[in-house]
Amino acid sequence: MSSTRSTRRRTRVVVLAAVAALTGGVGLAQAVTGAPTDDLSAKGGATRLDGDQTAAVQKAARKGPAENVILLIGDGMGDSEITLARNYAEGAAGRFKGIDALPLTGSYTTYSLNRQTRKPDYVPDSAATGSAWATGTKTYDNAVSVDLDGKANPTLLELAKRGGLKTGDVTTSELQDATPAVQVSHISARSCYGPVATASTCPEASKANNGPGSITEQLLDTRPDVTLGGGAKTFDETATAGTYAGKTLRAQAVERGYQIVSDKAGLAGVESADQDEPLLGLFGSGNLPVRYVGPAATQGGAALAPQRCTDNPDRPSTQPTLADMTTKAIGLLDNPNGFFLQVEGASIDKQDHAANACGQIGETVDLDEAVQVALAYAEKQGNTSVFVTADHGHTSQIIEVGSTSPGISVALTTADDAPMAVNYATSPSGGSQQHTGTQVRVAGYGPGAANIVGLTDQTDLFFTIRDALGLSEDVVEASKNGTVVAQPSTIRSGRAVNALVRRYDGDRSVTVSLVGRGQTVTKTVALASGEGQTTFFPRLAGKYSLVVTGDQSDQQSTAKVTVKPKRRR
Ligand SMILES: [Zn+2]
Repeated sequence: MSSTRSTRRRTRVVVLAAVAALTGGVGLAQAVTGAPTDDLSAKGGATRLDGDQTAAVQKAARKGPAENVILLIGDGMGDSEITLARNYAEGAAGRFKGIDALPLTGSYTTYSLNRQTRKPDYVPDSAATGSAWATGTKTYDNAVSVDLDGKANPTLLELAKRGGLKTGDVTTSELQDATPAVQVSHISARSCYGPVATASTCPEASKANNGPGSITEQLLDTRPDVTLGGGAKTFDETATAGTYAGKTLRAQAVERGYQIVSDKAGLAGVESADQDEPLLGLFGSGNLPVRYVGPAATQGGAALAPQRCTDNPDRPSTQPTLADMTTKAIGLLDNPNGFFLQVEGASIDKQDHAANACGQIGETVDLDEAVQVALAYAEKQGNTSVFVTADHGHTSQIIEVGSTSPGISVALTTADDAPMAVNYATSPSGGSQQHTGTQVRVAGYGPGAANIVGLTDQTDLFFTIRDALGLSEDVVEASKNGTVVAQPSTIRSGRAVNALVRRYDGDRSVTVSLVGRGQTVTKTVALASGEGQTTFFPRLAGKYSLVVTGDQSDQQSTAKVTVKPKRRR
C-alpha cells in the first residue's frame, strides 16, 4: 500500500508473443558495444567497444521507479565461472547474449558473518548470501532470512506482495534450497526443508511449538503467485501440527488452492496464476537434472587430450528449461500493479562442488537463455529492471593447459576450437569442492540499475530493488487495518472460541490475550500474509476481551467474547 506504487501510472503490455519470438538476443549489447573481428591478432581486433560510450552509459542510467524487477542469480557464478563458460560456449572474444548484455556493471562483496564472533566470514554460503539481498541484512552461514540474533527480516518478495505486486520464485534446484527459500521463509537452518528436519534441527520454528513451520510450510503460507523448481519429495512429508496436521504438504497445497504442475506440458497449459490459485511447479523429486555432461576432472587432467561436453541423456525432455520457466513466470506475473520475480540457475554451484566443468558450463548457458528472456521482456515492456548476479564465488579456475596442478583438472575444447584447462583445488579429489570468498559481478538494466555500478555490498542490492520498486517497510502502516474477530463471539463455558487475526500485513507474529474474570491467557501466533488464528477455552462465565498486539507494529485490536454458564442437563 505504498503511495509511490498506488499513484503510479501503469501501462499493461502484452508481451508473451514478443518474448517467445525474441530468441536471438535483445540488441542491448549491440547498442553499447561492438564485436571483436575475426582477426583477434590485429590492432584493435579483440576490442569490444563500439566507439565512445558516454551517451550510451548516460542513457542506461535511468531513475526509478520500475514497475517490475526480475532478479536472476547464477548460484556460485563468480567471474571465473562466467569466463570459462563463455570461452567454451561462445569463444574467448564472444559474448553471452543475456549475461553479458546488461549495460551497467559493478562488483559486490559477499562475505557473511560469524554467528559467535560477529566478525566477517570471508567464504559465505548460499543461505547467508541470499538472505543478504533478500533482506538487506548480513547474517551467518546457514541462516535463511533471519539475522545474527535469529530475528526474521522481511524479504523483497514479502514486501512486494504486501505492496500489491505479484511475485514469483523460480529455480532449477529444490524449492527448499537456500536461494529460493530466502525469499519465502525465515528459519535458523537451511536444511529444515520439511516438518521432519524442522522437528530436530529447527524446533523453534516447528508448528508444534507454535512456530511458522518448515521452509516448505512457510513457502505455502507466503504464497507467491508463481513458484517453480524441483524438491517435490519434501511435499510428501506430513504436517505434524497446525491447521493441516496429519495431511501431506502436497495435500495441503491442493486444499489451499494451489495449481500443481509437474512437467513442461503441464506448465504450458497454465493460463493464470494469482492469490486464488497460485502456481506450484514441481518438476523433479530433488534438484533438476543438468544440461551437459562431460569428462571428470582428475589429477593431471589438464594434460590429457581435450574433450567436448555432450547433452545429458538423463535430462528428461518433459522438464522445462530455466528459460521455459522464466518465460511462463513473466507471462503469468505481468500485470498493471507490477511484479517481483527471482530466478535462480542453481546448479552452476552444485556442479562446481562436484568438479564437473561441463555440468557447470551447461547451467551457465541455461541461465544465459533465461536472462535473454528477461531482457527481451524488459526492453519491450519499457519499465522493468533486470539484475543478474551471483551469490558467491566458487572453486573452478582456468589454468594453463598441460599444468601439473595439485588439484584435479580437466581439458576441454572450446568454441574457439582451442584447448582450455579447468582446475578444482579447494578440496581433495573426491571431496566436495568449496566456495571462495571473491567479490562477484552484479549487472543491471533499467530503472535504478545505476546503483549497482562500482563496488557495492550484496546487502545494497536489497535497497536498490526495494527502492526501484518503491516498496515500503513501514510495518505500522502495513498493519494499520489489523483486526481480530472472535468466532463465535458468544459461547458456553468450556467451549472453544477462535481468535481470527486478519490484515496484520506488517507483522510476522502477534500476541493474542484473552482477558476477563481477573485472568489473562496469552499466546504468540505466527502469521502468514498478515493472517493467523488461535483458540481459547474459557471456563468461567462472564465478559471477556480478545486483545491482539502486533509484535512488530504494536497495532492493537480487540473483540468481545461472552461466556455463558454451562447448560444444565
Ligand atoms: Zn554451494
